[in-house]
Amino acid sequence: MKINRRDFVKVAGAATAVGLVGAPHLAFGATQKVVIVGGGTGGATAAKYIKMADSSIDVTVIEPNKEYITCYLSNEVLGGDRAFDTLKVSYDGLKALGVNVVHDTASGIDAEKKVVKTAGGTEFGYDRCIVAPGVQILYDKVEGYSEEAAQKAPHAWKAGEQTLILRKQLEDMADGGVVVISAPANPFRCPPGPYERASQIAHYFKANKPKSKVIILDSKQAFSKQALFTQAWERLYGFGTDDSLIEWRPGPDAAVSLVKVDEMMVETGFGDEIKADVINIIPPQRAGEIAQTAGLADDSGWCPVEAISFESKLQKGIHVIGDACIAGAMPKSGYAANSQAKVAAAAVVAMLKGEEPGTPSYVNTCYSIVGTDYGISVAGVYRMSADGSTIDSVEGSGGVTPIDAPDWAHAREVQYAYSWYKNIVKDSFG
Ligand SMILES: Cc1cc2nc3c(=O)[nH]c(=O)nc-3n(C[C@H](O)[C@H](O)[C@H](O)COP(=O)(O)OP(=O)(O)OC[C@H]3O[C@@H](n4cnc5c(N)ncnc54)[C@H](O)[C@@H]3O)c2cc1C
Repeated sequence: MKINRRDFVKVAGAATAVGLVGAPHLAFGATQKVVIVGGGTGGATAAKYIKMADSSIDVTVIEPNKEYITCYLSNEVLGGDRAFDTLKVSYDGLKALGVNVVHDTASGIDAEKKVVKTAGGTEFGYDRCIVAPGVQILYDKVEGYSEEAAQKAPHAWKAGEQTLILRKQLEDMADGGVVVISAPANPFRCPPGPYERASQIAHYFKANKPKSKVIILDSKQAFSKQALFTQAWERLYGFGTDDSLIEWRPGPDAAVSLVKVDEMMVETGFGDEIKADVINIIPPQRAGEIAQTAGLADDSGWCPVEAISFESKLQKGIHVIGDACIAGAMPKSGYAANSQAKVAAAAVVAMLKGEEPGTPSYVNTCYSIVGTDYGISVAGVYRMSADGSTIDSVEGSGGVTPIDAPDWAHAREVQYAYSWYKNIVKDSFG
């Protein structure tokens, strides 16, 4: 579902009408300031939609990178069908809307004084802050793994240089080689991602290195869209046969417990050692580092938020959206981050006026491209739970691609995925 400007203003407007009752005295005239930490999918969307709702609000996005590189469709780069440069998104769209984009890293947030500090030494005061830092990769959760080791055994779970390293290794690998993908336990960024990645690598091998193999060493017993993935693997990659291009070993003991990058070897919880030509470790994750230092995360490593506004349950005046927040039944996806950002933006605009946020609903769709003309998807609609404490799936909404979908429907899902990509980039970054 796409919300256009008129619908968005309607939601914000409905909240206004409710909120005006009993509103406290407000100091009209002063420019209201919103500072957004992180200019990824969530942060950019929030900035854009706040500006669209009320252009008088001073919106600053703090983001170290000069351009955003989407993780979505980055698995297609690994599969060889997409050029890396097509993943790059500029901040010009946000700037044209009047958003102040500052290329710096937030180093601390003082919730009492309402100030964001940056590594570059600047302080940004705010009336409301939105934090959307994505995930922090927990290198130390896999023995032998580190940021340095990731140069040899890339995670590629943040698109960029890591994606290029992994693609190069796949290109350099001889036919007959073995690729190991280590998949983490839930929750993590993009639940179908490791399986789409295995599909894309198998797709590349099928055409170029047919004697090779991808082994997924999973921390889990089950995974997102599993029946659809395995059906596609049977049809396209010989899954279940001796010659299969993909092998899936379910967890938890199949998970990688130790990696030795110098020997290109991993050890699993079963104690077996697997030599590999390419090792892709996708480690466990938690909310981006700034969320930890700002006291926004709980013991789980993720950030508890109010479902109605995404305001932190731990630090008032700060909202957390995207992968970093605990969003009930919603997965950690780009589309979810975009949807949460719109809810947070409407809530922030209302709250800056001293009004109550309106009652939100939320959406998500995730496409996975598993081979030539073969896509699958999952979609969901969500609402606030009756007591307002969390976000639930709306029963009977959404669903996955039918298991008996004909070939033309799978081909169409690939085209939907491409069109979704264009839309989400435009909708989030202007
Ligand atoms: C391989 C792969 C495939 C995927 N495919 C899909 C897909 O098909 N569909 C889908 O919906 N989702 C997909 N995702 C998931 C999607 O990319 C994420 O869920 C989404 O990017 C989350 O948005 P976010 O804003 O929370 O975080 P991000 O988009 O990661 O943005 C976080 C931003 O915060 C910045 N930042 C971090 N710390 C600071 C700081 N201290 N100061 C300032 N800035 C900071 C970072 O530089 C970054 O730009 C995929 C992910 C992967 C890894």
